[in-house]
Amino acid sequence: MIELLKKIYPLRLAPVSPDTDKAIKILQKELPFAVHEYPSGMEFNGWMVPEVWVVEKALIQKDGKLIYDGTKHPLGVMSYGKSFKGRVAIEELKKHLTYRKDFPKAVGYHCDYYYKPWRADWGFSIPYEIYEKLGSGNYDIDLKVNVSKGKMKVCDYFLQGETDDTFFLNAHNCHAGQANDDIAGVVVGIEIMKRLAKQKNHYSYRLIIAPEHLGTVFYLAGLSKNEIKKFKCGFFLEMLGNKNRLALQETFTGKGLLDEAAHHFLKFRRPDYFSAPFRKVVGNDETVWEAPGYEIPTVSLSRWPYPEYHTSNDNESIISESMLEDSVGAVLGILQIMETNCTLKRKFDGLIALSNPKYDLYMSQRDPSIRPTISEEQVKWNYLMDCLPRYFDGTMTILEIARKHDLPYDELYEYIGRFQKKGLVSFVKRIAKSPVKVKKNGLRRTLRGRLFA
Ligand SMILES: [Zn+2]
Repeated sequence: MIELLKKIYPLRLAPVSPDTDKAIKILQKELPFAVHEYPSGMEFNGWMVPEVWVVEKALIQKDGKLIYDGTKHPLGVMSYGKSFKGRVAIEELKKHLTYRKDFPKAVGYHCDYYYKPWRADWGFSIPYEIYEKLGSGNYDIDLKVNVSKGKMKVCDYFLQGETDDTFFLNAHNCHAGQANDDIAGVVVGIEIMKRLAKQKNHYSYRLIIAPEHLGTVFYLAGLSKNEIKKFKCGFFLEMLGNKNRLALQETFTGKGLLDEAAHHFLKFRRPDYFSAPFRKVVGNDETVWEAPGYEIPTVSLSRWPYPEYHTSNDNESIISESMLEDSVGAVLGILQIMETNCTLKRKFDGLIALSNPKYDLYMSQRDPSIRPTISEEQVKWNYLMDCLPRYFDGTMTILEIARKHDLPYDELYEYIGRFQKKGLVSFVKRIAKSPVKVKKNGLRRTLRGRLFA
């Protein structure tokens, strides 16, 4: 993953740019992405597809001496800023400069004009150590950007499962010169899809790599209502390579099956994780997927915060393969719950002698004469064993049982699998459809509403 990341993040990425096209060619070598194109100037709900934007020259000079060359780093010029040539006083120049005092040698990321082209002005991002040395007097600015019509591209890789019901992964590829935000999410998403492609999946999967907001806005706007309906839920993947614990941002309602699966998995397998409601960790395309009319439950997984965020110090030095791998494992673990979670159907009546070797399903109980001490864990398993046969009536999913008994899903799944092998129970595959609404006592109630709510 890190080798792929190193090829992409140093590029001059933008919503529409020659280097973004180059990045897409690299991505297509990893997975056979379909590429959707949206022409510059296209509008939807007030969002505009940007033009191709290329910096040709970006000089700040004083008395013929070069003070700053904004072409040295892809972030040196405010993204989608305008051209300007002329002599300005220091007071005027400073209105056109941004800097990061917390990283005096780095340049900051300025992407405001991606989304608000009507506000665009000329400007540079410069290291604070240069900014603070700027003296009084006049400066000669020679900033030339070339703008032309082009096409914004959205990469779309689809993996067909047993059903058309689809889970999506989404990451963005528009931040020039930054590794963790979000080429880390891009490479993690690709790795997850490669691994899903090697197994048989119940659900279908779609990986969307696109410019932040703009890409998903136009992608979803181009789909029919029926195509939108196939999306059941998904992940925004971002900032997953730095050394920090995982951060789970919940869906808009915070009450979907994906929220429950993610919390449950992380609680047992990444216990140092933290979580917060919708938009309270980081802001990305979950607003697009969750927008009214779509309302596709979207969690976000990141390793927020990290200090180098939106600076040129967000480079490969803060990324490790082991953190990327840990992120892949977390998403696959959560998806494994989504893939296998189902209700259960009993094939017997009465109490089964689970300790009989022909079943071998007994979980030991504490007994002062025989087993005076057993672990807290074993107490939980013993209690589960006493309750489990009653759950084989189709009223609870495996995840609900795991949550109720505070046991790791994968171990519970394996234990129930042993009942299935003995012919005592069958797995009932879940029906992945929108919640069924019925009227009861004059109130609208949701049956199994939490499935994909
Ligand atoms: Zn960002």
